[in-house]
Amino acid sequence: MPEIIDGKAISAAVKEKAAKEVAKLKEQGIEVTLAVIIVGEDPASRVYVNNKKKACEQLGIISREYALPDTTTMEELLALIDRLNKDKAVNGILCQMPLPNGLNGKLVTDAIDPAKDVDAFHPVNVGKIMIGDYDFLPCTPAGVMELLKSTGVEISGKRAVVIGRSDIVGKPMAMLLLHANATVTICHSRTKNLPEICREADILVAAVGRADFVTADMVKDGAVVIDVGMNRPEGRKLCGDVAFCEVADKCSAITPVPGGVGPMTIAMLMKNTITAAKRQNGIN
Ligand code: NAP
Repeated sequence: MPEIIDGKAISAAVKEKAAKEVAKLKEQGIEVTLAVIIVGEDPASRVYVNNKKKACEQLGIISREYALPDTTTMEELLALIDRLNKDKAVNGILCQMPLPNGLNGKLVTDAIDPAKDVDAFHPVNVGKIMIGDYDFLPCTPAGVMELLKSTGVEISGKRAVVIGRSDIVGKPMAMLLLHANATVTICHSRTKNLPEICREADILVAAVGRADFVTADMVKDGAVVIDVGMNRPEGRKLCGDVAFCEVADKCSAITPVPGGVGPMTIAMLMKNTITAAKRQNGIN
């Protein structure tokens, strides 16, 4: 049987440590504060925002929600971000994506002060990640790295394959594995011989967004398989990109969905918010 990497337990440990840091900052008069913007009524976005607020409450972080109607204009949204950028009481700002049609997500990302960009999506933070000199890491890839570290997976010198090249998961994931001295291949929808490449992986990360995409024939015996996918196919419960039952038989460790990468993403967001508060107050 492979090791089932328990994202719930590992994220709980990260959050416990974070709560202690929040309490310590409070003693120094610093109230860690996260501003969360949500535009429109997308039900999935609402769930994500509620989960983030719940995590803030658990840790003693103040969360300020800005719920805007889907009639909000770009000017109004940018004016709010400008206000939050200037508000010294706000340490972190995030705008839940996707935005309703007509609003430009890229302009929103670019408008957030990089020092408050706890999602680490701003081009300045993306550039810093590229050169390995960063304050914030994007939450999902950072969560994956924490899972690997906590499970004692050796990364240096290993072959890592990341399926997916999105700006928020695939690309930064590959970069973090590279910084950890893995030899990294990124695959995408135009990749030829994908199963063959995947079979070379000691560490295989799936961030595709397709249920059961990774099958047993794509996995090397003893590989570590990380499933970032969150899919809700009709008539099925939430599932990942990996055909869990068949792949589990072949690998040495695997993340389940739910209960793997998902809980880590929020834990890392909390960590970034605390880092932002510390940096803004001159604490290292
Ligand atoms: P995305 O922007 O849609 O990117 C998907 C990537 O998969 C693209 O690079 C795409 O290639 C590639 N792809 C699609 N079909 C493929 C195929 N047949 N063969 C090889 N590659 C293929 O998605 P994302 O935002 O990165 O998210 C990926 C998954 O992770 C989704 O299920 C999402 O819900 C989940 N997710 C989970 C968390 C979490 O906290 N657990 C956080 C974020 C995202 P091209 O670039 O060539 O189109």
